[in-house]
Amino acid sequence: MTNSAPIDLRSDTVTRPDDRMRAAMAAAEVGDDVLDRDPTMRALEERVADLLGTASALWVPSGTMGNLIALMLHLQRGDRFLAPHGAHVLNHELGSAAWLAGGMPDPLDWDAGPGRPTAEAVRAQARITTAYDALHTTLLCLENTHNGAGGAIVPPHEHAQLAAAAKELGLKVHLDGARLWNASAALGVPPKALTVGVDSVQVCLSKGLGAPVGSVLAGEAEFITAGRRVRKMLGGGVRQGGVVAAAGLAALDRIDSLGEDHDNARLLADGLAERGWQVATPQTNMLLAAVPDVQLTLQRLTSVGVLAVPMSGQVRFVLHRDVSEADVEEALRRIGQAGI
Ligand SMILES: *Cc1c(COP(=O)(O)O)cnc(C)c1O
Repeated sequence: MTNSAPIDLRSDTVTRPDDRMRAAMAAAEVGDDVLDRDPTMRALEERVADLLGTASALWVPSGTMGNLIALMLHLQRGDRFLAPHGAHVLNHELGSAAWLAGGMPDPLDWDAGPGRPTAEAVRAQARITTAYDALHTTLLCLENTHNGAGGAIVPPHEHAQLAAAAKELGLKVHLDGARLWNASAALGVPPKALTVGVDSVQVCLSKGLGAPVGSVLAGEAEFITAGRRVRKMLGGGVRQGGVVAAAGLAALDRIDSLGEDHDNARLLADGLAERGWQVATPQTNMLLAAVPDVQLTLQRLTSVGVLAVPMSGQVRFVLHRDVSEADVEEALRRIGQAGI
């Protein structure tokens, strides 16, 4: 990176496929995935199912579609579903949970910490009743890591308690695990330790792991068979999908290196704190900074070639594989020099 090039900390989706990934894509064995499955797609889906501890899995073009397919299968029109306040399904998916899946969203407070509701909150808010005019609460939608809370981790024991509470209440559990890999790497536990008790889970290959496109929805075999039909209905069936599945397989080789992004997030947070910024200690690859005027700060950062985005009323910086430790130091130098 030259001295003046912008340092892009807007998201971990800005990564570009490297030569190794492009070579894997070019060499991929392919078939027609809609007609009778593509062999590389199949290999990717089996590997992800294995990592997540589910029977089956389905590649989808985006995390948004993965979440939508799950919600469409779990919800009947008018059902209430619970999700942590600020969840991606509530705030960043165009209302598709209501618009297309027909769900009535009911946000859960973060009473256990940033991005983390307690099992007691789930019990209280499910409001299970036999009253004839009551909503039916049928789904708990969790998010790990929680994006709006700055990449906050739900630890395995809390996750298990939440899933167990949902089961007692007769609710299905969907996990939006767009960045489950980051939680797994930060905790040093396998991804399947974080999917205990879920009926479905969605994971992204196009965030920290650096694939150009793709997410995977995982669950029981019957659920995935039904999901394949809904994916087709939504226009998400792809033909020679092996080309992008090969990128997904290369991406999965990188789970262990996510810790470098977490180290860089801490380096940036420490450097900003030294310069007087109010930053929460990052748990994974992102950090939120509280500033008096978010838009003004973002403009000033852009003018010195440091790109960030607004999130939850704060400035969000995301570390990823295309930003090195030296880039973080350079970003801090630019911020310091401009007195931001
Ligand atoms: C990015 C993200 C999604 C959606 O993924 P897309 O591939 O951008 O549609 C879902 N959930 C969370 C928590 C995310 O951060």
